[in-house]
Amino acid sequence: MKLLEYEAKEYFRRHGIPTPQGRMVTTPREARDYTTGLGKPVVIKAQLPVGGRGKAGGVRFADTPEEAAEAADALLGMRIKGLTVEKLYVEEKLSIVNEIYLGVTVDRRNKAYVVLASSEGGMDIEEVAAKTPERIVRHLVDPVHGLRSYHANLVAKRLGYGGRKMLQFVAVVESLYELALEMDAELTEINPLAEVKDGFMAVDARLNVDNNALFRHRELEERLLESYRGELTEREMEARSQGLTYVELDGDIGIIGNGAGLTMATLDTVMLHGGRAANFLDLGGGATPERIGEAAKFVLSDERTKALLVNVLGGITRCDHIAEGVVAARREVAVEKPVVVRMMGTNEEEGRKILKEAGIETLGSMEEAAELAVKLAEAS
Ligand code: GDP
Ligand code: MN
Repeated sequence: MKLLEYEAKEYFRRHGIPTPQGRMVTTPREARDYTTGLGKPVVIKAQLPVGGRGKAGGVRFADTPEEAAEAADALLGMRIKGLTVEKLYVEEKLSIVNEIYLGVTVDRRNKAYVVLASSEGGMDIEEVAAKTPERIVRHLVDPVHGLRSYHANLVAKRLGYGGRKMLQFVAVVESLYELALEMDAELTEINPLAEVKDGFMAVDARLNVDNNALFRHRELEERLLESYRGELTEREMEARSQGLTYVELDGDIGIIGNGAGLTMATLDTVMLHGGRAANFLDLGGGATPERIGEAAKFVLSDERTKALLVNVLGGITRCDHIAEGVVAARREVAVEKPVVVRMMGTNEEEGRKILKEAGIETLGSMEEAAELAVKLAEAS
């Protein structure tokens, strides 16, 4: 999950990283009023989850409140890298002596965080890495010992800092690393970290949080869900909040599979036999009977679904669990709808037995199962 600059700066502030005074706005009027309040020249920046806004015209300077309003007017609604600008960040303009790069990211090969710093700030760090890799200072953080101040000192020295500047820089490095750790960041970056008259200021901010760790950051999980509103249908939103991977389609056969590949193949096979899928629901790996039951209930309770086709490969997911889940769901959903199950693998025999006792058809091949599901949907 990629936070916007203004959100990332909020976290920066909480961790004591110096940032210019600023505010998120959504109208030219707000931009003007905020600039009036500041009483200083400002920078106005498009808030988008992509880098390189400056080059794309998404960063503007304004000396007066009127200029700020004009800049905001020009920026709002602008398209940058396929996205529409809806939010802006207005902040005090700084007098920058030097721009440097500072980032903390995951070094997957070494299974550790790495601190990256370069005197070539402002530019794309990928470009610096490609053209002048010697200009990037790397410090791999030992996960057991963490980042100690003498490590941060070393990074500062290698960038040429001494004395007070060194202490100020070290404080930023340490805070950024702590932020990365606390927020389960995949990447947190300050580009540029501006060297100003009396210290450092984070002019830009990036914070990308690992989606797999969102359960530890509830406020972000909710914000992510919120960002889907408008893009997703009501049922898709409902599915997300239940943690189901679900896409609504316009046919009448409900599809449940495990793994995106198998689920897609199931959709194709249904199409091939003249049917149309009502949805795409991927159970993922290792689903419990409860989870399978919830998924089946969710699909069966959709008015448009006339028949349900379950197609799973039993690996970590067990076929007897699939059977238990499907039977429980059928029992709990009031309306009787035909269900066809095709499953193979772990505990297949046990699963078939459970389904047979409940009067649910199981078939050996995906083709046969799809054909039957199409026939049953047409008949009902
Ligand atoms: P990006 O292009 O998406 O990375 O957006 P940034 O927030 O990094 O801004 C792009 C560039 O605008 C920076 O590298 C700076 O050179 C310049 N810039 C941004 N804020 C200020 C500021 O307060 N003062 C000055 N002088 N330049 C700024
Ligand atoms: Mn930048």
